[in-house]
Parts: sequence; C-alpha cells; structure tokens
Amino acid sequence: MSERPRLTVLSGPSGVGKSTVVAFMRAQHPEVWLSVSATTRKPRPGERNGVHYHFVDEDQFAKMVANGELLEWAVFAGNHYGTPRKAVLDKLELGEPVLLEIDLQGARQVRESMPEAQLVFLAPPSWEELVRRLTGRGTESQAVIDQRLAAAKVELAAESEFDATLVNTSVEGVAAELLALLNVV
Ligand code: ADP
Ligand code: 5GP
Repeated sequence: MSERPRLTVLSGPSGVGKSTVVAFMRAQHPEVWLSVSATTRKPRPGERNGVHYHFVDEDQFAKMVANGELLEWAVFAGNHYGTPRKAVLDKLELGEPVLLEIDLQGARQVRESMPEAQLVFLAPPSWEELVRRLTGRGTESQAVIDQRLAAAKVELAAESEFDATLVNTSVEGVAAELLALLNVV
C-alpha cells in the first residue's frame, strides 16, 4: 500500500554512524530530502555551512527560537541544535518524504507535535564499538566525548520509544533498511 509520505526521524547515540549511513543512502538516492539543522556547534573539518548544518551563533539561534522558526530544538553536549520548520512543512506539503537526523529530545518533541511521524533508532552493535567509533572519528576532545557518551547511555535506554530499531553493523545493510522504511525502494 502506498501511504502518504511522512516525516521520518533518525536518532541514535553520537558516533553510531547516523551521518555515515544517511550520506551513503543519499549518494545512491539523492531524491531523499534531509532537513538541514541549525546549530551553534563549530563546523568540523569538511563541514559546509548550509549543507551539513546552518552554523549560527547563540544570538541567531535564540532569535530563531523566539520567532517560532524551529519545529523542535535541543541542547546536546553543550550546543544548541534545531530543525527549521518552514522547509520541512514545505516538503510535506509537496507530498515528499522528509528525513530528520536529530537527537532523542528532538525526536520526543516531534512525536508530540506530529504523532504520525515515524521514529527510527540507530543502535550500535555494542557499547565498546560505539566508544571505538566516537573516539576513532577524532573530531572531539576527550571531555566532549565523555559528554556524548553520557548522553548515549540515556539515548540507548530510550530505544523502546521508537517505532523501529536498526543496528549499524554494515553501512550498506542499514542504508537499505532505512530506504525501505522511507518507502523509497
Ligand atoms: P554520528 O553521525 O551518528 O555521530 P558518524 O556517521 O560520524 O556518527 O560515524 C562515527 C564514526 O563511525 C565515523 O568514523 C564513521 O566512519 C564510523 N562508522 C559509521 N558506521 C560504521 C560501520 N557500520 N562500521 C564501522 N564504522 C562505522
Ligand atoms: P553532531 O554535533 O555530532 O553533528 O550532532 C550531535 C547530536 O545532535 C546528534 O545526535 C544529532 O542527531 C543531533 N542533532 C543534529 N541536528 C539536530 C536538530 O536539529 N535537532 C536536534 N534535537 N538534534 C539534532
């Protein structure tokens, strides 16, 4: 049965491989639209403004919140992150599926405001592998890694709140599973 395209949220602990899986999937299926979040985090090497994130300062972020421009927002490991509302609603209005890659707090807000949204949790094969990936990425200091691992414990404990869980053992495998959930293939 072909259903109305809907909003899908992909969440999971930092370092589990969300960005890697989504990038792999979109390289094959560029038609999958991914919301570009606003964040006060500083860009990592290779991250481009307007592509990976809209990089903003605290004042700009506060204005977006005050103006109601964000569908959801959260503080994660010391930085603000939020989903620009208009672009998402425009896509849904056009009947196109929408993918958000956001944290647990954001996923909960989306569930409240859009109960029809599909919530997908990306889980690591093991805790040790999550630590290895997050550390191996080499983009954060040990203090930030520790903050993110503390958040990961909370996120892993909330897995049952999600409609589906995908275990990121193989990027190809999990990208194919996500495409199926998005109704793209
Ligand atoms: P997230 O977006 O969830 O924070 P990333 O996509 O940045 O995570 O991935 C974190 C690290 O794990 C990266 O170095 C990435 O190359 C690696 N990685 C992602 N998926 C896998 C996988 N299936 N097997 C091994 N390493 C992976
Ligand atoms: P990172 O700094 O590693 O890019 O992202 C840190 C966390 O913030 C990840 O869990 C990511 O999914 C989440 N995130 C990214 N954009 C948003 C957003 O717009 N809203 C929320 N709530 N979380 C986000």
